[in-house]
Amino acid sequence: MRCLSCRRFGLSSVCATCRDLYLAPSPEIRKLPSGLRVLSLYAYEAIEPFLLTKHMPHGWFVYRLLAKAAFGALERPAGPLAAVAVDDDAGGGYSHTALLARALKSRGYRHLPGALRANNRVSYAGQPLAFRLANPRDFRYTGPAGIEAVLVDDIVTSGLTLQEAQACLQKSGVRVAGAIVLADVDREG
Ligand SMILES: [Zn+2]
Repeated sequence: MRCLSCRRFGLSSVCATCRDLYLAPSPEIRKLPSGLRVLSLYAYEAIEPFLLTKHMPHGWFVYRLLAKAAFGALERPAGPLAAVAVDDDAGGGYSHTALLARALKSRGYRHLPGALRANNRVSYAGQPLAFRLANPRDFRYTGPAGIEAVLVDDIVTSGLTLQEAQACLQKSGVRVAGAIVLADVDREG
């Protein structure tokens, strides 16, 4: 197969050279207006070719590879901390956000499968902020209360979805310690 990044032939979807070049994480924290601190491991542009595989047949493989590269150096939580994937729904075959939350188990996080789902999945792609505001995700949380959790998503753009998810968890009695995402679109590449 061809390397997704440099198109050279090899046995892996991402060759070893590109893995070292592009997948070394560069963590940054962005604070959203709600106070939620979002840890991103990459600038969006730095890993865009990989993120665009999301809905392709080998997307799950690429996301697993990204998760491993991104989370490998994460600090282990000091106390019990759950990883709650944003809209953990396998409707499209597999849930890429659930895959990320599951990958955090190796760093000591507790994965709560299917705990946070959106009732509204209208696409935000290319839509202005006003559209996003008029069409909230309308999240439903079915996990346990009285715990501490981080939200997990692949991409943060405006941060509206993460803040809506945060509000939903807080209403359900969950303390939200922050969010972990692969890529922040707002960052400089
Ligand atoms: Zn390559």
